[in-house]
Amino acid sequence: MMTDNELLRYSRHILLPDIDIAGQQALHDSRVLIVGLGGLGSPVAMYLVAAGVGHLTLVDFDEVDVSNLQRQVVHNENSVGKNKAQSAKDALLKLNPLVHIDTIEEKVPADQWQSMIEQADIVVDCTDNFATRFALNAASYQQKKPLVSAAAIRFEGQLSVFDHRDVSSPCYQCLYSPDGSEDLRCAEAGVVAPIVGVMGSLQALEVIKLIIQSGESLVGRLVLFDAKRHQWREMRLPKDPHCPVCSAS
Ligand SMILES: [Zn+2]
Repeated sequence: MMTDNELLRYSRHILLPDIDIAGQQALHDSRVLIVGLGGLGSPVAMYLVAAGVGHLTLVDFDEVDVSNLQRQVVHNENSVGKNKAQSAKDALLKLNPLVHIDTIEEKVPADQWQSMIEQADIVVDCTDNFATRFALNAASYQQKKPLVSAAAIRFEGQLSVFDHRDVSSPCYQCLYSPDGSEDLRCAEAGVVAPIVGVMGSLQALEVIKLIIQSGESLVGRLVLFDAKRHQWREMRLPKDPHCPVCSAS
């Protein structure tokens, strides 16, 4: 049961027939794991907390650096030197004290993602490296949990949803060969500040749609955004029959 305070706080959601009280309650009862509290993780966490997602687990072992503040908007000047998950939690509880937030502030070994994902309803990939993305994908596939994944670099972004509850869904690994992919990081290539805001906000939106079970998800589709020319492209993303993670064998 929601309190009067919650009914008022979330009233613009509750007005929407697609959400209503039942959808808001579903948001309240959901557990979302956010991996990476940088450029993408900032808007993801801020919107999910503002929207009333009841339980968030924030994972980041990194510390806030002054060069992060250009785009990682959940952090501020006083966060420099603090752990990113802790810094984000401090800011998020000021935005909405009614939600529950856990932090994991150490590096997570690849074999420990499964137990962490087991306790979540949805996993949001906001990381910046292929090793973690592949590990998260494999573990969320094993646990049959949806993975909402995005990336942004320079003036470009991409977004997809891998719903591992659905056997026909491709997985993140279907997109890439495990050894042919090289990390391209913002530290080397640069990134325009709002592109992570755009892509992270869309991740939060897809998470909410999955929770309220409304609309059409991005499963089997990859969306690409070229901000310089303001062009959106959508590609069909087939399941790779030889994928080492999700193929039938
Ligand atoms: Zn696959």
